[in-house]
Amino acid sequence: MAAHMDAEEFRRNGYAVVDWIADYWTTLADRPVTSADPPGTVAALLPTGPPERGESFEEILADLDRVITPGLTHWQHPGFFGYFPANTSGPSVLGDLVAAGLGVQGMLWATGPACTEVETVMLDWLAELLDLPAGFRSTGPGGGVIQDSASSATLVATLVALHRAGGGRWRSAGVDRRYRVYTSTQGHSSIEKAARIAGLGDAGVHQVGVDPATLAMDPVALRAAIEADRAAGAHPTLVVATVGTTSTTAIDPLPAIGEVCREYGVWLHVDAAYAGSAAICPELRWTHTGLEYADSYCFDPHKWLLTGFDCDAFWVADRAELIDALSVLPEYLRNAATESGAVLDYRDWQVPLGRRFRALKLWFVLRWYGAEGLRAHVRSGVRLAAGFADRVRADDRFEVVAAHPFSLVCFRLRDTGDGADSDARNADLLARVNATGRIQLTHTRVAGRHTLRLAVGSPHTGPEHVTEAWELINSLAR
Ligand SMILES: *Cc1c(COP(=O)(O)O)cnc(C)c1O
Repeated sequence: MAAHMDAEEFRRNGYAVVDWIADYWTTLADRPVTSADPPGTVAALLPTGPPERGESFEEILADLDRVITPGLTHWQHPGFFGYFPANTSGPSVLGDLVAAGLGVQGMLWATGPACTEVETVMLDWLAELLDLPAGFRSTGPGGGVIQDSASSATLVATLVALHRAGGGRWRSAGVDRRYRVYTSTQGHSSIEKAARIAGLGDAGVHQVGVDPATLAMDPVALRAAIEADRAAGAHPTLVVATVGTTSTTAIDPLPAIGEVCREYGVWLHVDAAYAGSAAICPELRWTHTGLEYADSYCFDPHKWLLTGFDCDAFWVADRAELIDALSVLPEYLRNAATESGAVLDYRDWQVPLGRRFRALKLWFVLRWYGAEGLRAHVRSGVRLAAGFADRVRADDRFEVVAAHPFSLVCFRLRDTGDGADSDARNADLLARVNATGRIQLTHTRVAGRHTLRLAVGSPHTGPEHVTEAWELINSLAR
């Protein structure tokens, strides 16, 4: 019978794993960014069933190179410019390793006090770093919590907005299908998903039009939608505004949207999943103007703040409402600390009961980099993206199709005027660029047109990689 891995074996194998990760990072640039293998390739390398006898750790580790890395898209690759970045970093990985080793389940304060208290303090630190409204700090009526993802933050915001709108009836009687959620046509898909999960269905979500020039939500259209719904007997409940939309990083006008929300008593959730990290730089805080109107706000340190997935930072201005909405206290979870009212039990701030000690990786990252290190990372992405956009603009064949305040540039080959289908030309360019294996871009549609996206974000990406990206795109364009 195989024994547990003893401390000495763990030490030895653990060092080998750390070496393996360090080697992976230092050799990333030599690998193709994505795997070109067809579906099923990785699965075919695995045995059809689990082993009866335990195997040696050397065999397990060797299969990382044989089975896993050839079948990956390498998100930390210096040539990875797809979607939004999903940064990780040494301190994040090591903090996560410690959390894994502790194996603490932080559902209640009492099940791991440090797990809760470090998280509360880290979210206060982040609120200070981003200069968020004072009301979000745990020292006031609000507070922050780590969710697994921005999607979960939106779901939780939807639930507490329903709770508020129904004056508490949602909790006992369930959803009233006349409740309505509003976001722009550019809002993230997780908003619709949250509405489905909450029982409102897709029909419960109103997609408000945008200013065609900025792709930001039109607050006049928002007001009109809310008034029309009210006239029809529906209940406007939640507006999800976005700072940095997924498609083009458009920024919804929070002050005007906030005024509308205040006037009609509608919950305002601000989704800054990717772009929130930018607010650590004072010169980019204008992107968050009007955040004081928000009832809740989230951003993903796992996207652009060097903290590995999963880590979404979510704040509410009034934690009592959130806890009231989600708290269910069965006998087996009763404890003196909870009863005293002196502690936070984060199980009441999220959908699952259990939770990992995710604040540790954040603590490691914030201490290792310091505010200035994190600002330098964000600034480097913004600078590299701006330099790329300059090159695109300087070439008549191309156009930059949206503002790029952060580290995403949306661009495309212009129409040639001879009737050739420029959507097809752009799709073809994207396919040929990605087929080189040197870089990875993704695409979107802007005003109905096929558009290429280049998002800078890997900590391994330097000016030389952005130059290489441009040269590839330039040489393959036709
Ligand atoms: C990436 C993104 C999300 C979803 O993020 P997850 O944390 O992966 O759920 C939500 N909203 C916006 C604007 C995003 O860019």
